[in-house]
Amino acid sequence: KDESTVSITVVGASGDLAKKKIFPALFALFYEDCLPKHFTVYGYARSKMTNAELRNMVSKTLTCRIDKRENCSEKMEQFLNRCFYHSGQYDSLDNFMELDTKIKEHEAGRISNRLFYLSIPPNIFIDAVRCASLSASSTNGWTRVIVEKPFGRDSESSAALTRGLKKYLNEDQIFRIDHYLGKELVENLSVLRFSNLVFEPLWSRQYIRNVQLIFSEDFGTEGRGGYFDNYGIIRDIMQNHLLQILALFAMETPVSCDAEDIRNEKVKVLRSMRPLQLENLVVGQYKSHTKGGITYPGYTDDMTVPKDSLTPTFAAAALFIDNARWDGVPFLMKAGKALHTRRAEIRVQFRHVPGNLYNRNIGTDLDQATNELVIKIQPDEAIYLKINNKVPGLGMRLDRSTLNLHYAARYSKEIPDAYERLLLDAIDGERRLFIRSDELDAAWALFTPLLKELEEKKIIPEYYPYGSRGPVGAHYLAARYNVRWGDLGLEQ
Ligand code: NAP
Repeated sequence: KDESTVSITVVGASGDLAKKKIFPALFALFYEDCLPKHFTVYGYARSKMTNAELRNMVSKTLTCRIDKRENCSEKMEQFLNRCFYHSGQYDSLDNFMELDTKIKEHEAGRISNRLFYLSIPPNIFIDAVRCASLSASSTNGWTRVIVEKPFGRDSESSAALTRGLKKYLNEDQIFRIDHYLGKELVENLSVLRFSNLVFEPLWSRQYIRNVQLIFSEDFGTEGRGGYFDNYGIIRDIMQNHLLQILALFAMETPVSCDAEDIRNEKVKVLRSMRPLQLENLVVGQYKSHTKGGITYPGYTDDMTVPKDSLTPTFAAAALFIDNARWDGVPFLMKAGKALHTRRAEIRVQFRHVPGNLYNRNIGTDLDQATNELVIKIQPDEAIYLKINNKVPGLGMRLDRSTLNLHYAARYSKEIPDAYERLLLDAIDGERRLFIRSDELDAAWALFTPLLKELEEKKIIPEYYPYGSRGPVGAHYLAARYNVRWGDLGLEQ
């Protein structure tokens, strides 16, 4: 193993994602001794930079874990010394050939393994893959490419991107990243369900009334709406992150924990779902709002967004899985920008206890009597179960309490960033948390007809004030399925 090398090239190294996520994640892996002995990192972009300038740029975003501060600066120095920069065009075979020469020098004749991370705008993915594969792929080891979203903007463009990538790569060389799949609590979803007897038997229409997948941000596009405006919240969050979580949540038990077994089950669930209908969707867009003397801008006040944009910054949807396990159970998704909180969570609301002896003791709101399991993905990771409990004392009065697994309190370890796990998996060739092309096709098939309908009919979003709970239409949608969004209830 000592005779092999891994060369990681960050294509688009001058960009935001590279600075904020990729280099810090690589450093964290190095610091945790997770990277192979002979590894080298290359930054590649058009910007002119020296190795020293790249190192200086990267050094500003590296951090050490709170619980592991010893040798931190020494380790940073060692890591930075393994980072190199090459300036080049994304469509130049020659420039990638020069990169190849540099990589070869460092490989010094050892077995060559190469990972390219495409952290560039999607319109240049194929060019970069063509050049990397023809001019700079490994001749005696593996070559893998990590691709960032967006994977197209509908079924057709996604299929075209896949065809383009497959001209130069095999499916098993392509690592489509959805960083939500690298989040600790999403990884834990299967453990929670499949290794606890108390959950798996309840995981069906018989006991679960509805499932909610909620993503909210408490800020808007803040001058960076140009990219977003072409996609909107449904493509940006629902069709990928929330749908991936849904598939993991609802899949049947896989044959094993192997990547292909898990991905097979995810595809089956996605293919059992009904394409989303307009009547099961509410779209919204945030408008300017003044609070406490501060005026928060509306979406179309963003200079990078067209004034007449109808792009949704909020969406709520009801989705259904037509299989034996989930027949009739609404899966409600809600995603939005400029809302009152920032979080991502899964809420599982269970049915009423049949013939509940204690109904009369709970108070006026019978709804309160049902159990709810909440998986809080971010921030502040936690899993909690709301139960009915007797208030201590004489007499019989019940209230709702929570059994709470709060990660910060239970585990003193800092939770690794999603990018760390995913980069490590790509280096190890572990594909479980990456999206296979048939999964991607199935995911787009659910949303593409509706996305086209929204654009063709020029559906006007419901406007909601910046910092609010979003459009009231989301509550009517949920009410149609006899559901209340969990975040209105008793909070943690
Ligand atoms: P970025 O900063 O806009 O772009 C990365 C680099 O690509 C830039 O530094 C620039 O490098 C080059 N580039 C930008 N526009 C270009 C153009 N029109 N033609 C050729 N090169 C261009 O993007 P990012 O925020 O780092 O994100 C990278 C990728 O990840 C994007 O595809 C994005 O959609 C995706 N993504 C980003 C995030 C995030 O949090 N930022 C999250 C999820 C997905 P040079 O000019 O030096 O060549």
